[in-house]
Amino acid sequence: QELEVQSQKIDNFLQNVKHKIVVMSGKGGVGKSTVATNLAVFLSNQGYKVGLLDVDVHGPSVAGLLGLTGLKLNTDGNQILPYQYNEHLEVVSIQGLLDQPDAPLIWRGPVKIGIIRQFLSDVAWGPLDFLIIDSPPGTGDEPLTVAQTVTGCQAVIVTTPQEIALADVRKSIQFCQLVHMPILGLIENMSGFVCPTCGNLHAIFKNGGGKKTAAAYQLSFLGDLPIDPGVVIAGDTGKSIDSLTSHTKEKMQGIVNQLLQ
Ligand code: ADP
Repeated sequence: QELEVQSQKIDNFLQNVKHKIVVMSGKGGVGKSTVATNLAVFLSNQGYKVGLLDVDVHGPSVAGLLGLTGLKLNTDGNQILPYQYNEHLEVVSIQGLLDQPDAPLIWRGPVKIGIIRQFLSDVAWGPLDFLIIDSPPGTGDEPLTVAQTVTGCQAVIVTTPQEIALADVRKSIQFCQLVHMPILGLIENMSGFVCPTCGNLHAIFKNGGGKKTAAAYQLSFLGDLPIDPGVVIAGDTGKSIDSLTSHTKEKMQGIVNQLLQ
């Protein structure tokens, strides 16, 4: 019965969210959290009300990317209060519940599922235009919980151009098809490097694979993002988008525009 009450709360919350988007990837390290965070920041800077939820229990990186490391989530007795990153962006990360941010978590599936559900039922989110969910890589408990719990959720899949990453992305695509989650499109990250000295684009990890995979599965290709040392600086300093080169910002804006279409 408690579960029913919780499901009701989750439904009540989700009814007030216009767009629910889970950012997925076939494997780790492809820039999924970076993309999820940038999407949330760009959309909020455009005036949309955005909630960013990090359900990557084993490697929560959203807090770090936004300079919120070590920040504890408060409660008002009944509800968890999200962190207000800017006027329009609320953030909730599993990090905010941990006493020791660096301690590894050893949680079994049911615990993880319970926490994700709680983030949807017991957080005092405002009414949102977008809920962006950063899910761990792969097709495990967390994306499955999101797919089964977040009614109306759609997926954005992030990949890098290498064949090995693309092989994993096909699994993500098939996962979405299996759980009947519509795919908004694919993003190719680390797609070439614009040399600041010569100005030419170098395809360090090749490029174009994301677009080809999207075409093969008849999915939208939302755009690509270059390798940008500014992304690393942004992530390491928690300064979010401030350090991105203007080229990367333009590319990111292009992706956001595609999504808004
Ligand atoms: P994931 O969530 O897929 O594990 P992250 O977003 O945490 O990946 O990114 C992994 C690492 O790669 C981070 O150090 C991040 O700063 C870096 N990174 C991600 N995207 C880019 C990019 N476009 N250019 C340069 N570094 C990037």
